[in-house]
Amino acid sequence: MEQQNFMLGIVGFGGMGNWHRELIDSIDGLKVAGIYDIKESRINYAKENGIKAYESLEELLSDDRIDIVLVSTPNDLHKPIAIKAMKAGKNVVSEKPVTLNSKDLQEMIDASEETGMFFTVHQNRRWDEDFLTMKKIYEEHRLGEVFRIESRVHGSRGIPGDWRQEKEHGGGMVLDWGVHLLDQILLMMGDTKLNTVYATETHITNQLVDDGFTAELRFENGVEVLVEVGTSNFINLPRWYMLGNNGTAIIEDWELNGKIVSAAGKNETDVIPVRTAAGLTKTMAPRREDTIKIQELPIVKSDIRDFYRNVMKVIGEKEEPKIKLPEVKRVMKLMEVIFESAESHTVVRFE
Ligand code: NAD
Repeated sequence: MEQQNFMLGIVGFGGMGNWHRELIDSIDGLKVAGIYDIKESRINYAKENGIKAYESLEELLSDDRIDIVLVSTPNDLHKPIAIKAMKAGKNVVSEKPVTLNSKDLQEMIDASEETGMFFTVHQNRRWDEDFLTMKKIYEEHRLGEVFRIESRVHGSRGIPGDWRQEKEHGGGMVLDWGVHLLDQILLMMGDTKLNTVYATETHITNQLVDDGFTAELRFENGVEVLVEVGTSNFINLPRWYMLGNNGTAIIEDWELNGKIVSAAGKNETDVIPVRTAAGLTKTMAPRREDTIKIQELPIVKSDIRDFYRNVMKVIGEKEEPKIKLPEVKRVMKLMEVIFESAESHTVVRFE
């Protein structure tokens, strides 16, 4: 069967717009028709690389060859551009966070329903191999019954010095990185109800928006999850740490260094206490090696190009969307609850 070819126009050709362009170059059946950006330097960069630069958004939207519009502008512009594109008869992929709150998201969903255009969000970190590996460990009960999960990203350079530092553009780390980590956790927990949220924000380098946050999520099945983003961390804590009643899993970094340590079935009856400078402890003494089992992580491989392959199949009515709008809306509502909890210093119920 002959493959259908799709053309995509990029609105907002900054760092991420160009990332998409490079990715699309390696995907069969998909081509970049051109870009639109308001910055001269980005228009010149496009031209230097042989990419068509449209003079205006309207010109890009009126190009009949374009099937899909990617919106990769600053966050506050996703909504107006996406709605305009759908009204012009284009399918839309929006960068994350889809927009700044759930009310705005509903307007985008309404536009998709009214126009019949497909609209989805680039939640690309669903394809992160560290996440997929932890999800497998959780789902296959490899640690016994899991009771705590910690998911972190740490940097030490504050917030990059542009629109990400400003509230009106949808800046801050909850919207920037939180949207990925929270989406991953809700996916991992599947149908399990999230009961309560307690969150704190940091403002170390920025007073206008959060430059980091912690969120404690308590789920109906007793699992407690800590999600943490930090931008003033000169020593990183592990990317993932998962605790079950029969073992612990760790992923240290983006290179997926890590392991699973579980009980080997033998009980230690003769624990040798550890002497510290000022005391003695059996409780915290390291395990004897013959009482534990150390396993390699069951790494799950992925291919991020499957995101666009799915978009094309959904438009061709051959597949269900991998990123579903009710999931995107749930994450948006969770971010709203995180802001509410951090501001009120209270535990907030998640309905
Ligand atoms: P950026 O500042 O590098 O690029 C944004 C571009 O949009 C700039 O070139 C700017 O000139 C252009 N722009 C601004 N207003 C415009 C308008 N009205 N019309 C057309 N272009 C306009 O930012 P970035 O890092 O590329 O981020 C862009 C989007 O991608 C953001 O929503 C961000 O959250 C998202 N992002 C996603 C990931 C991911 O992994 N999914 C990673 C980085 C960024």
